[in-house]
Amino acid sequence: MNQPAPLLQVRGLTTQFATEEGLLTAVDNISFSIQSGRTLGLVGESGCGKSVTGYSLMRLVQPPGKIVSGEVLLNGTDLLKLSDKEMRTMRGGKIGMVFQEPMTSLDPLYPVRDPILETLSIHRGLKGAEAKAEAVRLLQQAAIPEAEKRLASYPHQYSGGMRQRILIASVLAGRPQVLIADEPTTALDVTVQAQILALLRQLQQETGTALLLITHNLGVVAENCHDVAVMYAGRIVERAPVRTLFASPRHPYTKGLLQAVPGPSTPPRQPLQAISGSVPSLLRLPSGCRFLSRCPLAQPQCAQTEPALRSAGENHEAACHLVETQER
Ligand code: SF4
Repeated sequence: MNQPAPLLQVRGLTTQFATEEGLLTAVDNISFSIQSGRTLGLVGESGCGKSVTGYSLMRLVQPPGKIVSGEVLLNGTDLLKLSDKEMRTMRGGKIGMVFQEPMTSLDPLYPVRDPILETLSIHRGLKGAEAKAEAVRLLQQAAIPEAEKRLASYPHQYSGGMRQRILIASVLAGRPQVLIADEPTTALDVTVQAQILALLRQLQQETGTALLLITHNLGVVAENCHDVAVMYAGRIVERAPVRTLFASPRHPYTKGLLQAVPGPSTPPRQPLQAISGSVPSLLRLPSGCRFLSRCPLAQPQCAQTEPALRSAGENHEAACHLVETQER
């Protein structure tokens, strides 16, 4: 059966930062796609390039950062080729982003209704009573109590969890086809985390949004994503449907990540195994495989050639020289 064309297709995206020590490639030639109504989890340790990927898709990378190559196709339109003005129209209308800390996105000087009404006006042409009614509906949908009254409140009058829900409501006001959520629940307690993620899933089912969920939390990925891409030192090193990845990880880095989190079969009091060593500096990458210095399976060939992503099964790819020979 033919799969529908992906709503979002990223091909060969590369983003660099000019630093005093040289050019740092934060996102290095990565490719992935997401279909309407699907969620792709982008996982990896801090500094692996996950957030820079999100900012790159939104074209919000600030100097000295720069997207140097690649394509970001949204319904076939390459966002990287649009003028700044055209991109502003896309941002909020066709593609939106929810950040980790909502206070960086909500202006403390304005009541929460302002960004929502502005989005409704710019992207959906709604004004006056019609816009206000839609703003109330969006806040209700985001489970904000007494929505009509609370439209006039300021961000500091809300808890962290409520602010995040308001931010989601204001991003969804534009009905984006693609939503990027960058660690949307990291700063929140577990109960509120679950509520926010349930809200995103519900809204996705209603609108068919393609969701890129950026997180370091594999539990969040297991419960919320259809597919997953694992990033390491700027590259995608493994990609698979979520169940396949958890049942049969093929890259030693992914295996290490999974061994470092408790699972239902982890015996009580058994110590978890952290991956030894640390991510190499993106300014001084080793030759060959980037995971070389931490890899328990490294072979001489790993120091010579960088492994490309290769098939590790149906819809499954991993960038490791041993994919063909490793036991599953
Ligand atoms: Fe380890 Fe070699 Fe595979 Fe890299 S290519 S992950 S060093 S086995």
